[in-house]
Amino acid sequence: MHPVSRRGTLYIVSAPSGAGKTSLVAALIENIPNVCISVSHTTRPMRPGEEDGVNYHFIDRDTFLAHVKESRFLEHAEVFGNLYGTSEDWVAEQLAKGLDVILEIDWQGAQQVRRLRPDAVSIFILPPSLPELERRLRGRGQDHDQVIARRLAGAQAEMAHYGEYDYVVVNDTFVHALGDLVAILHACRLRQTRQRETLAATIGELLSSPPVNG
Ligand code: 5GP
Repeated sequence: MHPVSRRGTLYIVSAPSGAGKTSLVAALIENIPNVCISVSHTTRPMRPGEEDGVNYHFIDRDTFLAHVKESRFLEHAEVFGNLYGTSEDWVAEQLAKGLDVILEIDWQGAQQVRRLRPDAVSIFILPPSLPELERRLRGRGQDHDQVIARRLAGAQAEMAHYGEYDYVVVNDTFVHALGDLVAILHACRLRQTRQRETLAATIGELLSSPPVNG
């Protein structure tokens, strides 16, 4: 395990609905220490099995718009008619603690975060095929046909933005896709700029004059 530097890294993870992003990211934080997931605010109604403060902070439209007015969101966007936003203060606090933060957001939010935080690392998760994406959306069994049809159409619009991301992971086999995500986080932690602080003493010693014998 590599020590964390004083500031964490901000990760953006986007995917079309049903690509498996939420399950992959949940497994990722089980496999890598010092990473947390930002819990977004949304005006979307809660789905069965979801919990307020765990999956999302579920708030009404007026409260959301008040947050926007008070500049409390790092980014916010409307997706499928619902508003979603990332708490700026919460993210800043985690990064300051040295934790990496994962934002599970759409391409619109990703564009906003990239503008504000060019050092953010972005990852796009693709499903292996469109029929497989539809199968996964139906398997969820939580949304009406009309909603699924709308999400499938939206999926192609979302996937059209994959080229704006640093990394692309195809979620064909869950274990392989998870391995890819773990590899990306490991590689980012091995970056020289990321290790500069934690290795300062070692590097200082390595580069100092050798001890003079006798
Ligand atoms: P769902 O309602 O299915 O959980 O998410 C629908 C879409 O909203 C997904 O593409 C998800 O990534 C996106 N989303 C979730 N939270 C946020 C957020 O805080 N900001 C933005 N821009 N998109 C979000």
